[in-house]
Amino acid sequence: MVEKPKSMSELTYYTFRSLKGKKDGKAKVWVFKATCSKCKKGKMSKPVDPKTGKPKTRAKELVCENCGFTEDKNIIEDQLIAGIEYTCPECGHQAEKEVPFKRKKVQLLDPKTGKKKSADALVFECDNCGFSIKITKKMKQ
Ligand SMILES: [Zn+2]
Ligand SMILES: [Zn+2]
Repeated sequence: MVEKPKSMSELTYYTFRSLKGKKDGKAKVWVFKATCSKCKKGKMSKPVDPKTGKPKTRAKELVCENCGFTEDKNIIEDQLIAGIEYTCPECGHQAEKEVPFKRKKVQLLDPKTGKKKSADALVFECDNCGFSIKITKKMKQ
């Protein structure tokens, strides 16, 4: 069984996408915050800016909510696992799975220009038909 989040505060990433294809596909993807490698209790979160009280979104390090231990964000993100609940846009198969939360460069067709462009995406395969499902990173506009 894939572990489900109880609240958004447990998560470092969450997305819900509609996937167009032969079937009405969709995918829900979530990634739990990493557990502190020092105290093994706290969750690693973005440091909070003391002036604004808001998380520093561009911080290079994450800090433990329990003991204050800090670690490089890239090291932590390399170990994260994504939980996925999906309906395959190719065959309609519904399943849950876990994959390493690693993005790959993929070629996508831009619906506006009709040209191929490169994007970062989390890619996983349908357990039933092997269709490759791509969850692209949302581009900043
Ligand atoms: Zn800790
Ligand atoms: Zn499928």
